[in-house]
Amino acid sequence: MTANPFHAEGQWVRAALHTHSTVSDGTLQPHRLAAAYEEAGFDVVAITDHWRLTEVEPTDRLITVPAAELGFDLAHPNHAQQSGEFLVYGIDHLPEDPGGDRANWMFNSEENWEVRTFASLTAGVQWADAMGAVVYVAHPYWNGLSVEDLHAAEGFAGLEVFNGSAQLECGRGDSSPWWDALLGRGRPMFGIATDDQHYPLFELGLAWTMLKVRDRTPASVVEALRTGAAYFSHGPTIHEVTVVDGGVEVACSPARNIVLHRDVEYGTSVSVGRGGRRQGRVLALSETGLITRALLDDPDGAAMYRRITVTDATGARAWTNPF
Ligand SMILES: [Zn+2]
Repeated sequence: MTANPFHAEGQWVRAALHTHSTVSDGTLQPHRLAAAYEEAGFDVVAITDHWRLTEVEPTDRLITVPAAELGFDLAHPNHAQQSGEFLVYGIDHLPEDPGGDRANWMFNSEENWEVRTFASLTAGVQWADAMGAVVYVAHPYWNGLSVEDLHAAEGFAGLEVFNGSAQLECGRGDSSPWWDALLGRGRPMFGIATDDQHYPLFELGLAWTMLKVRDRTPASVVEALRTGAAYFSHGPTIHEVTVVDGGVEVACSPARNIVLHRDVEYGTSVSVGRGGRRQGRVLALSETGLITRALLDDPDGAAMYRRITVTDATGARAWTNPF
């Protein structure tokens, strides 16, 4: 589905792709927010304020990408004023009137956030496309988006598969079932993980996306998001993924379980510990008895898509893009 980023030229950078400053409903000013991410070991920050384009200067280490969190009307809303949101990377302006249903627009002056909408997700993507920007749909589970609405839309690069603050706040952070549902319909689609930071003390660094970039520029970051040269995590590190004869070899930080997801009802895994089961071979263990290298069986190699999830001893996961 995409060139394997683990074997592509370039360098890995750690990216914060969904975060809010005082320009909308965050609590740190943009330059202080960027500095906080740099201190936390990030290489990339895309500040995604609601309907605001927040510019922040890069530093020697930190790449800053102009971005925003915008809204779209749903064909089948579940309740009044329900809308969807998307994250867009590589923009140079925002539309004054995006053209959606004004009944869905709102402004919360106390919390300083705003919702305007495009008439559809496809309309938002077309606006982004015209300036070479890339769109990922934000937190489908948290927003209660239907798979039908997403399937009907065109041109977006992927989904925010894991949102750390939604997970912390109300347990609706993991949208991977939406991802598999769309992949299972033959829709190529990438993923990202984010912290959706508003309150750095609680949320900064809850989840992140690792991007394989050609060089340390905003354009290379946007290109990696467009081509899915990424994996994403709220804990584990994935060192290598290699497709071999009859299987997929994975090297990672110590894990209790590695899954090769395939089409509906098919997939294989290796695990250690209670209930450990192996559809493949563990090739290396850590000193603590966790998996650091394994070969996952891929019986016929004919799946519509394949992707890897690594789960560590605490239950935290890392996800590859489909391949
Ligand atoms: Zn947000």
